Parts: sequence; C-alpha cells; structure tokens
Amino acid sequence: MAGMRLTVIGCSGSFPGPDSPASCYLLEAEGFRLVMDMGNGALGAIQRHAELFGIDAICVSHLHVDHCVDLSSYWVARQYAPGGPRPTIPVYGPRGTAERVARLGGDDVAAIRARFEVHDLKSQTLEIGPFRITADRMNHPVETFGFRVEHAGWKLAYSADTGETDALVRLAQGADLLLSEASFQSNQNNPPNLHLTGRQAGEYAARAGVGQLVLTHLVPWYDRERSLAEAAESYHGPLSAATSGLVLGPGAAR
Ligand SMILES: [Zn+2]
Repeated sequence: MAGMRLTVIGCSGSFPGPDSPASCYLLEAEGFRLVMDMGNGALGAIQRHAELFGIDAICVSHLHVDHCVDLSSYWVARQYAPGGPRPTIPVYGPRGTAERVARLGGDDVAAIRARFEVHDLKSQTLEIGPFRITADRMNHPVETFGFRVEHAGWKLAYSADTGETDALVRLAQGADLLLSEASFQSNQNNPPNLHLTGRQAGEYAARAGVGQLVLTHLVPWYDRERSLAEAAESYHGPLSAATSGLVLGPGAAR
C-alpha cells in the first residue's frame, strides 16, 4: 500500500503571491483526502490535484484570512452544486470556525453547519480517515493549532503560524518531514509571538531531529534564498522551500 502523499497547494505567507495561493496542503492516503488550511486562492489551485467534491475532511489551523477564507467559497460550491447540495463533510478548526465562515459569506451559521460538520479543536489526538492527527496550540495572536499527521509509520509535522514555542518541538519530534513556517527574516525588528525566522525554523527542526525540513508560509516580499540560507545555519539535514504543486511523502511517486 502506498503511503501518504502531501501536495503543497498554497505556501505563500500572509497573502497570495504571484506563484502560489495562501496556505493549503492536500494529504492523501488510502483514497482519503484531507485538506489542511484553505487560504486565499486555494480552492482554485486544489482543483488541479483533486476533484472539487473529492475532499473528505478539512482541518483549519486558525482563523486568519490567509488560512481559512476559501472555506467560505468551498461552502458555496458544496451548497449550490448542480443536482443539489453535496454531503456534509467534517471540518476541524478552532472555536468559532462555523461563525467565521458564516460571516465571510453573510450566511446563517445553521446553513454552514448543514454542509460542514464543524468540530472544535483542542490539544488532542484524533483519527481522521486513515490519519492519526495530533493538534497542539501554537504561539500566535489568535487560537492556532499545529498538526502532527501520522500514517503507516510516516510522520509529518506542520507548524501552522507560530512564534517561538516548545510545542513545535513536541509536535515535530522525530518527524520524517517538518513543514515549518518561516515568515520572518533575521535583523528585521520582528514582533514577538507571531512568526518564525528561517533561522528559528532551522533551530526547531534540529531540536526535534526531523528527517527533512521544508520552509513554507514564505511572504512574497522576502527573498526565499535568504530564508533558506538562515535555516541552513542551524539545520544540516535535507532542506528546501515549498512551492505550489510540490508533492512530498512516501506516496509522492505514485
Ligand atoms: Zn496567522
């Protein structure tokens, strides 16, 4: 049986860039499709990799626009599909996810819940389809969850958005791949408790002993080569930067 396949749909930090939507990742295993985050522009790009109604579950790390806004568009697609509304799918997110999606489109919360079975996340481990997901709170101005996703012995960690936190080391401990945000660059007078620099992402990858580090949530106004160079100072394993359409994981070759 082929293992997990991770497709980067969107990896642009804070807002979409010329070559990528904002945050969105497609995880596939055993015919199940789980989407992590659905930022600006993600719903368009995801259709290059999955059938529009082929998504089985969605996890949202937090309710900043660049991580959740296309949930509203996806609700529209499922609600008004030709032939009638599509079946309800589970959506996992911070408290207030259904209300946030309703406000985005000016819709009733009850209508949102008719298409999206919304579950409030807490720091917990849960099974979603074939995936074992551990969620933990990150260090960001709104309630934000990072995820550890395990399938058939392969382990992925996703930082979501975060400032410095030991929770990221716990989530990423021994992971095969860490998908870490690197929104900031050093020497930029960065505010605390918001995002990581490339150097900090590298430090967390080294502390957690991950097998591979992929930088993501890279903001269009910064040079990604410099972010990679920062990370390489502290992390000496395989290192790259995410791009829209990049496919990773043991199922990548299939
Ligand atoms: Zn954020």
